[in-house]
Amino acid sequence: MKLSNMFFKTYREAPASAEINSHKLLVRAGFIKQMGNGIFSYLPMGLKVLEKLKNVIREEMNNAGAIEIQMPILLPQEVYANRINTFGNTMYKLQDSTGKDFCLGPTHEEPFTYLIKDNITSYKQLPVTLYQIQNKYRDEIRARFGLQRAKEFIMKDAYSYDTDQSGLDKSFDKMKKAYTQIFTRLGLDFVPVDADNGVMGGGSSIEFMVKADIGEDELIVCDCGYGANTEKAESVYDSVDLGGVELKSKELVSTPSVKTIEELVSFLGVSPDQFVKAIAYTCEKGTVVALVRGDREIEEVKLRNNLGVNNLQMATAEDIAAIGSVPGFIGAIDLKNVIVVADNDIKNMYNFVIGANKLDYHYKNVNLMDLHIDYFADIRKVRAGDKCPKCGKPVKTVRGIEVGHIFKLGTRYTKALECKYLDENGKEQYMIMGCYGIGVSRTLSALVEQNCDEHGMIWPEIVAPYKLEIVVANGKDETQMNLATDIYNKLIDKNDDVLLDDRKESFGVKLNDAELIGVPYILVVGRGAANGTVELIKRSTLQKVEVSANDFISNYHKM
Ligand SMILES: [Zn+2]
Repeated sequence: MKLSNMFFKTYREAPASAEINSHKLLVRAGFIKQMGNGIFSYLPMGLKVLEKLKNVIREEMNNAGAIEIQMPILLPQEVYANRINTFGNTMYKLQDSTGKDFCLGPTHEEPFTYLIKDNITSYKQLPVTLYQIQNKYRDEIRARFGLQRAKEFIMKDAYSYDTDQSGLDKSFDKMKKAYTQIFTRLGLDFVPVDADNGVMGGGSSIEFMVKADIGEDELIVCDCGYGANTEKAESVYDSVDLGGVELKSKELVSTPSVKTIEELVSFLGVSPDQFVKAIAYTCEKGTVVALVRGDREIEEVKLRNNLGVNNLQMATAEDIAAIGSVPGFIGAIDLKNVIVVADNDIKNMYNFVIGANKLDYHYKNVNLMDLHIDYFADIRKVRAGDKCPKCGKPVKTVRGIEVGHIFKLGTRYTKALECKYLDENGKEQYMIMGCYGIGVSRTLSALVEQNCDEHGMIWPEIVAPYKLEIVVANGKDETQMNLATDIYNKLIDKNDDVLLDDRKESFGVKLNDAELIGVPYILVVGRGAANGTVELIKRSTLQKVEVSANDFISNYHKM
């Protein structure tokens, strides 16, 4: 492709709304263009990258035995009748001219399940995994970070249907392998992590996270390969031998206007790990007080799952009064009508400080026998330096962008939509389902986050819009232009992955644009053209070598 013939424009400045590298660079290089908040057009080079990315995904999905179809974007709202409230305002709802309710598909579990229900009746037709690469719509209030969190985005979503759990396990493993293969081929530095599964049960949901400082998720990782998001990461507790420790008697102490741990530390002159922090929540089961060591945080998702509830919220002052306490001074002594859950760490504590359920008072020298605890559980947030549950070494924290999520759904949708098959005995059974997503447009921006420098993007060859960009230093110099065109013609004979910048711009502008676009190799045809030499620049390192044009042409396809 000759750049003079392309629909193409670069910008020196990024849009004011762009906060992250991928958003800035994709817009500046003219790969994408914002049409409205969270809505983007893909321009020629952006579209080329997108199509190559889709093809990598497609190849691996097909290799794994999944079958591609395409569902409509516009769907009757009744398809989602079972969870229309769950979507709330994030679903784009509309009506046609007859007043019938429609929506723009936010995710496709139901449409796929209806399709399967209509087409599959017997165990002989199972298992099957279908997928599509399709636009999705969510009315994100916080649309930001360009393609990272958009209102219209591109997903690869797949759905597997099996006769039993072991079948689902196999389908799930195939997808896990395919995903690993996809992100490896893309050259991404990623980590699969155990993810929270809500109250549906654990161990059956894995997120694929691309490591990036701008990532919205915090991950716990270990060199041994362990990975989990903080909502799911397990704690390893030391067990402290309390034999021989002198347990003192609890003592009420006046702590006027002292509410935070920091204030307590300076007021009582003890360290945060000698406090027990008590936090009150409300949920379907009533009011809950969670206890954690003063220097640790409660992981609310772990607490929620442990309680087996869906809605866990901070308790109000009224809720706290109703259990016989006072905000800022909550303890676990003499509370009423409450469930008290303590982090396992509390078992290792003695002679500690805790709120006295009385304004401006704490107890000190408190011990376990003084407290009413309903049960102990792992409810604390894992932090860097904690022991790895797999190998025992200290874990690290990294931030990540979620690019894929695979999930064992079981019968959640097949039961709701009556999606059954006849087993070998002619008996009706519910199909067992899994779902598997890749944020395609989000992966594209994650690729830029991991592959850029101060000059621009650095595309891995597998998705680069072109492999080579030829830049003519002086477009008015006939020798240079002729040699550049000659090289271009010889290379495009075999492969159209070559871009020729023949625009009537200065060399500086053209070279800056080439570095911004981030094609893996840049070939500068300049003064050396008279002697048949050219300069090859590797975009990732900006390393330059002078080579003869003939050698370059004969070696190009081995590069
Ligand atoms: Zn480990």
